[in-house]
Parts: sequence; C-alpha cells; structure tokens
Amino acid sequence: MAHTLQTEVESRRTFAIISHPDAGKTTITEKLLLFGGAIRDAGTVKGKKTGKYATSDWMEIEKQRGISVTSSVMQFDYNDFSVNILDTPGHQDFSEDTYRTLMAVDSAVMIIDSAKGIEEQTLKLFKVCRMRGIPIFTFINKLDRQGRAPLELLAELEEVLGIESYPMNWPIGMGKEFYGIYDRYNKRIEQFRVEEDERFLELNEEGEMIGDHPLKESDLYTQALEEIMLLDEAGNEFSIEKINNGTLSPVFFGSALTNFGVQTFLETYLQFAPAPQPRLTNEGEVEPASANFSGFVFKIQANMNPAHRDRIAFIRICSGAFERGMNVTLARTGKQIKLSQSTQFLADDRSTVNEAVSGDIIGLYDTGTYQIGDTIYEGKNNIQFEKLPQFTPELFVKVTAKNVMKQKSFHKGVQQLVQEGAIQLYKTYRLEDYILGAVGQLQFEVFEHRMKNEYNSDVIMESIGTKIARWVENEKIDESLSSQRSQLVKDRYDQPLFLFENEFALRWFQDKNPEIMLSNPMDVE
Ligand code: GDP
Repeated sequence: MAHTLQTEVESRRTFAIISHPDAGKTTITEKLLLFGGAIRDAGTVKGKKTGKYATSDWMEIEKQRGISVTSSVMQFDYNDFSVNILDTPGHQDFSEDTYRTLMAVDSAVMIIDSAKGIEEQTLKLFKVCRMRGIPIFTFINKLDRQGRAPLELLAELEEVLGIESYPMNWPIGMGKEFYGIYDRYNKRIEQFRVEEDERFLELNEEGEMIGDHPLKESDLYTQALEEIMLLDEAGNEFSIEKINNGTLSPVFFGSALTNFGVQTFLETYLQFAPAPQPRLTNEGEVEPASANFSGFVFKIQANMNPAHRDRIAFIRICSGAFERGMNVTLARTGKQIKLSQSTQFLADDRSTVNEAVSGDIIGLYDTGTYQIGDTIYEGKNNIQFEKLPQFTPELFVKVTAKNVMKQKSFHKGVQQLVQEGAIQLYKTYRLEDYILGAVGQLQFEVFEHRMKNEYNSDVIMESIGTKIARWVENEKIDESLSSQRSQLVKDRYDQPLFLFENEFALRWFQDKNPEIMLSNPMDVE
C-alpha cells in the first residue's frame, strides 16, 4: 500500500538525548539502535573501548574514516515508527551546534545518572528545551548500581529544573538489591536478572500482584509499594497536555548497560512523543504534511580532513517531502537551488537519501551556499522560519593574524565563518581588536583549523577566559565604563555589550551603575 505523506509524517519521531557526559547516552543510543536493527553488534557506537568509533567524537571519525561524520543523525525503524536521534555531543565537543540541534527536534530524552542527579550540562541543555516548550522524557539510569533514593531524585528534578514529574515506573530496590521495576503504566513488574520469557509479572487492574510470588513478602517490594502509594496520593497527575507543552516529564527507571528497561522506555516513549508539529514562519504556521517541501539549516559541519574539503549543511525538514534533484528557493537570497547532492545519515554508513519527509534530517553538500538558520522552500510562497536564537557564549579568545602581511585572507575568513554561524565575533571599542566567543572549546579549535585550511591564514588565539556576556539596552553608552573586569565590546550587529569577569564583577557593576539596563538574549531562567 502506498503510504500517504500524512501517514509517513505521523510515523516520525525526532529527538535528541540530553545528558551530562558519562550518564549513559552512548550506551542507551546503542541499545535503541539494536532494537531498531540499525546496528548488529553492541559496541558499534561506542569507540573508547572497542576501538571502533564513538558517535559523538566526530574528529576521531574524520581521522579514521576520512569522511564526514555519519553519526550526527541516527535513523531506525521500530514497529510502525521511523525514529531520528540527533546527537548532542558532550565533553569538549560542546558547541553552539549542540544547542541549535535542539531547535531541530520535536522532543528530548534526558538521561540522568541515578548516583549523580541533575548535572551541569544536563541543566544547560534542559533550559534550551524548556525555552522551546518541547516534551522532555526522563530516563534515570544505572539502577544496577547503588544510587540516590528515587524520591530524592524526583524532588531534585522538580526543584532544580522547575518541571513536574510523573514516574511511569518505579524501581524495586537498587544496586546489588535491584529486583526490577514496577511499571505503573503497563501494569506489570519487569524483573531484572530474569530470562526474557519470564521477565514480566502481570498485575491486576488495581496494580496488585496476581497469585503467589515470593516477591510479595519481601521488604523491597513493600517499600516500593509504599512509595508508589505516596506518588498516587501526593504526586502529580498524569497529563498528556502537560507532557506536550513540556511542563511535566514522564520518568522511567532502568539500566542501559544491562539493557534493562530500555525497550519498555522506547515503546512507551514512541506512544506519547509527538510527531512533527506545525512550525512558525513569517507567513504563519506551516503544516508538516502540506505538499510543498520546506526546511531550515540548523547545523553546518565542515570536514576537518583536508583531502575532502566538503562541508555539510544539516536541514530539518518541516513540511512536504524531499526528492533528489528537486528545485528549492533559498529564502535569504531568493535564489533557486537544485538539491542533487544530498546525503542521509545512518548509524552504519552514509547512504544517499532519495526521499525524506517532515521530521527527517538531510545533509546537503555545501560549497558556501548555506548559513545557519537559512530556510529553503519549494513553491511560490516566500517563507522564512523563525530566527534561531543566539546562544550566549561563555568562553572568549582574542584573535589576530600570525602574519601581518596576510590581513586580507584573515579578515575574509573571520567574516565568513562568523556569518556561517561557526563562532561569535566581538570588537573592542577604538582599537577594534577581534574577540571570539563560543559556548565550547571545540568551536575555537574548528575555527583555527578552518582558518588555516580554507583561508590559508594562521591565527594567534589568546584565551581571555570565561566571561559573562550582558547586552546593553540603553541608547547611549559611556565608553569610560569599560575596564579590565567589565570590558565593553560590540557584537557583529554593532550592539554594545559588557564581558564581565565573573558574577561578582557583574553584580558590582550593576550596583554602581543602576541606570544601565543589561540583558541576556538567552535568558531562559
Ligand atoms: P555518555 O558519556 O553519556 O555517552 O556515557 P556512556 O554511555 O559512555 O557511559 C559512561 C559509563 O557508564 C560507561 O562506562 C558505561 O559502561 C557506564 N554505564 C552506562 N550505563 C550504565 C548502567 O546502566 N549501569 C552501569 N553500572 N554503568 C553504566
């Protein structure tokens, strides 16, 4: 039977996993891909131990395979769903791209290490998801190890993130005494360390065990039941509406490493996570199943390998279907482009995409055509998707050309990379020194590498450390307020901002200069 565009779009589930390094993102991704049949062996995604490649470590992949990364987007089919997982790299790979990737998904899965709770990077990524109001599903991982008390973890979720939680299942014991999970939603107990065919103990409508079982008498079970009763009485109510607007997170417990609770999570997730939703443009909302193709660029990845100078623009499709060779308009320039050189991303290998629909991600080989945030569309309706938010940089370097004779290529390179959205540029007053801002160290490394390879310009970068950037809202600004600890610079739109040395310098400045209105464009507190 031919699938209509509508049914194809409704089968799409596009999400990113947000977590702090080491919470288990790679491990869980691998298990999900295994269920989907996208990879055959565990260990394919993980690079550190197997000697193969890690999804998030794209520079390594470049080195080993001599091609652009294949794993920024992983696709697989499960039951009637087509799943797209977008990678949000951690560690040193953290960059503006990481944030922007969250603009391209319809929901997020937050992984929390049960021993650690909410960690710094999870919080940063969570804030971007909350700003967008997308559904956030939580997986509390590593239950096979002793972690913090589940009720305490839920309280932290609610306090630190300011989101309601609804546990879909609840652990019975943990660590050495981990018995399994009580599945409130599916009304069954999933037993850890029990063969697959006997893993589930069904519960009756009231959520009670049917027949005799030694578990019934155990203290662990009694305690779990007491906690569940507490949740039933005093906890949040399940609400699809709240899940959809991102104010309530369904919570799952499990152990990714032992592949416990992951499949239950996946199946429940797929049921509740949203298919692609309408997206806002300057011409009103665009329906995902409308006939004309449209999409936007959320990430541009340059190849670090000099032998392959290609660059890939990642497009999130927002309506219609992509077909090879189709003609589209680039909204920024009004120019027509023929989309012939395209690529789809799979866990295993790069393959050429023939058709993709709303919710899917395609990669287009780019020779300098695209910029971050660009809209492309088919048809006559001149549409432009909402601007991608600017993410406030935290790390700064002063940059100059090593060879003073090569100022021209230096300036050209800086201008182009800044325009592409690879990095943020600021200038000091008077001397007009260049200062670069990034959210992660990798952005500087990529910048340096690309300046050398693409613009033949060696650069000198002097770190000026972490800063707190705050834009000035006042019409006029007194340049004499600039100091070592609160440096006045302008952004590339000539808007003034201060780079404060630390929180203390910011507060001190505000106390001294209450008339100066400071703002943070990414204020999602
Ligand atoms: P990532 O940095 O978030 O991608 O985390 P990884 O998936 O690489 O996992 C970090 C470490 O935690 C690895 O040593 C994993 O084997 C381990 N790990 C992941 N999930 C679990 C789990 O469920 N239980 C235990 N005990 N260890 C886990």
